Amino acid sequence: MAPSWIFGATIALVCRVAHGAQPGAVQPVAAPMRDLAWGQLNFLHTTDTHGWLSGHLLDADGARPQYSADWGDYISFSQHMKKRADDTGSDLLLIDSGDRVEGNGLYDASTPKGLFYYDAWAEHHVDLICVGNHELYQASTADYEANTTVPKFGDKYVASNVDYVDRATGQRKPLAQRYRKFKTKNKGLEILAFGFLFDFTGNANNTVVQPVAETIKEKWFQDAIREKPDLFVVVGHVGLRMTEFRTIFTALRKQNWHIPIVFFGGHAHVRDALSYDSQAFAMASGRYFETVGFMSIDGIQKQSADDVSAAASLKFSRKYIDTNLLGMYYHTGLNQTTFPTDDGKRVSKQIARARKTLDLDHRYGCAPKDLWASRVQYPNNASIYSWIQDEVFPDVVVNTKRKDKPRLAILNTGGIRFDIFKGPFTRDSTYIVSPFTSGFNYVPDVPYNIASKVLTILNGADKILSTHGAETKFMAIPEVMFPSGHGQSPADAHQVEDERLELRDAKPDLIRGYTTKDDIGTDGDDTVHEAIPFYNIPNCIQSEINFPEKGDPETVDLVYIDFIQPWIIPALKFAGGDYTADDAKVYMDGTLTYKLSEWIVSRALDGANPMSPSIQHGQNISLAQDRRGTARHFQDDSKAVGTALLAQPDNLQPAAPAPSSDESCARWHSRIHSPASQTPRPVPPQPSGSPSPP
Ligand SMILES: [Zn+2]
Ligand SMILES: [Zn+2]
Repeated sequence: MAPSWIFGATIALVCRVAHGAQPGAVQPVAAPMRDLAWGQLNFLHTTDTHGWLSGHLLDADGARPQYSADWGDYISFSQHMKKRADDTGSDLLLIDSGDRVEGNGLYDASTPKGLFYYDAWAEHHVDLICVGNHELYQASTADYEANTTVPKFGDKYVASNVDYVDRATGQRKPLAQRYRKFKTKNKGLEILAFGFLFDFTGNANNTVVQPVAETIKEKWFQDAIREKPDLFVVVGHVGLRMTEFRTIFTALRKQNWHIPIVFFGGHAHVRDALSYDSQAFAMASGRYFETVGFMSIDGIQKQSADDVSAAASLKFSRKYIDTNLLGMYYHTGLNQTTFPTDDGKRVSKQIARARKTLDLDHRYGCAPKDLWASRVQYPNNASIYSWIQDEVFPDVVVNTKRKDKPRLAILNTGGIRFDIFKGPFTRDSTYIVSPFTSGFNYVPDVPYNIASKVLTILNGADKILSTHGAETKFMAIPEVMFPSGHGQSPADAHQVEDERLELRDAKPDLIRGYTTKDDIGTDGDDTVHEAIPFYNIPNCIQSEINFPEKGDPETVDLVYIDFIQPWIIPALKFAGGDYTADDAKVYMDGTLTYKLSEWIVSRALDGANPMSPSIQHGQNISLAQDRRGTARHFQDDSKAVGTALLAQPDNLQPAAPAPSSDESCARWHSRIHSPASQTPRPVPPQPSGSPSPP
């Protein structure tokens, strides 16, 4: 059978010229498109944006940034979609399911974090919003969420199972309202909406996450599900394959045998959809602002007061829209001139200004080749994890007092969030690859026969460690934690080949991207792509450093990213070592992010001047060291934009103009492939102060 998209397939050539709103964004490339199927009620869904409001400016394959639209473009898009709903008498609701923060310089590079980010995000007039785990790791982030974001979004923010504890008064209260009841604008449909977070336990102590199974027993919840809306909407920072959504679905269905239910999930960073039954549908919309989810429902019947209406014959549809300007033009029937709205343009400018202020495009160095998180198998010389294991860790995991000791250095793969693309490695890149504030801890002098077993336990013994409350999968990247059973994107290669053949008349060059398989089928992506390979990776990797040439060492220092200490100690116990958290110490100053940047800068600057106190790239900046970062007073070209404290990697600003030529790439390349890269070399001075807590 011909694939369904072929009949409606149109190449998005509405306009050959499209300018990604961020300066420097490369033009998107035209591709065959699948149409959106509008219904009575429609949704646009974002999740796990993790700071990527600038869109994807650097991308693989040179000039093919499939996801280069920015948040301003999305605002224009959502405004046109709202207007279309109004014009046709249908409804459109805008949804976000959390993890808006951490993962991109636009959020992480300022101190306080999010200095410019939150305001840009809030320009999006969302109808329902909930919290993700990343809003809760750091107490300060949760404070901001409770005291600024929740009030800003008012009754749109729903927190069914999260409480906030005011650290000054000790008072505990719901982070936001527990549920929201409202009527849609055009059809007058009664919606009852919940906002859930999965059973997260890694939050700072100023929030409380109630397990979902307990929340559904609460009186307020039991009362709410006995109301008879036309539709239940569950927004959740929950992966579709996690048990929490199933628990909520079962509770709702028990009381309401026929009322439609829709779920919008996140956290797993994948495109996914499933139906719980003929009246209940769920979708998840990817990660990092690569995807805007579209869902529609037709056939909703207004619930009559006596509740005897029969189950409606519902039709659900879902599409995963690439954050691509040509696609957005295509879906709205607009073009470069008619598409951008005033609000959208304003937000794009706001983001561009923030990027400039934070100097996110500043080059630290040049990556000589692509390094992938999951596009290649591990180990592999194109794997980012092999690169860290073989090249970076042997250089940077050094405690000067213990540098002669053999050591094992363990990194959880989830600590690395994104690929490195060949070409410029910018200030933004450091946060994209490694946004977290984790440092390095160690247990000294562990007998090698014990320490050597730890990695295997971390990578294979989920059942053993979960009895200690530490499920090992939580150390991996989200994309592999909760597999759908279809495999992650992509569909397999020969299926794509078949689709290419079907398109032989049009003969398009397909762009690499998502080729999603979900429970509904293979027609979910709005853009027809060539598949990108996806490989599972282990939870953790390990470097052996300063090992004897022959034989095994007697003891080693077991060094690890402090985030995984809750797994390390039980793993040591299981391996036969009687250790407690008291045996763990800080191994060295500096976060993983800092150490990665340091390594890259040290290569980019080889042969250049050592650090000097001035910075010479454009802005008029004065410097004052603070404890962990650098205080910088900005004077933008046009107007003062205030004072911002830049986070740690700013200490790495080279004194010489940033390397930008292919020459610096070549230099890094030759270093990587020379045996000398195994020996430490001079690097910029360490920032003062100690690494931040996990
Ligand atoms: Zn996330
Ligand atoms: Zn998450």
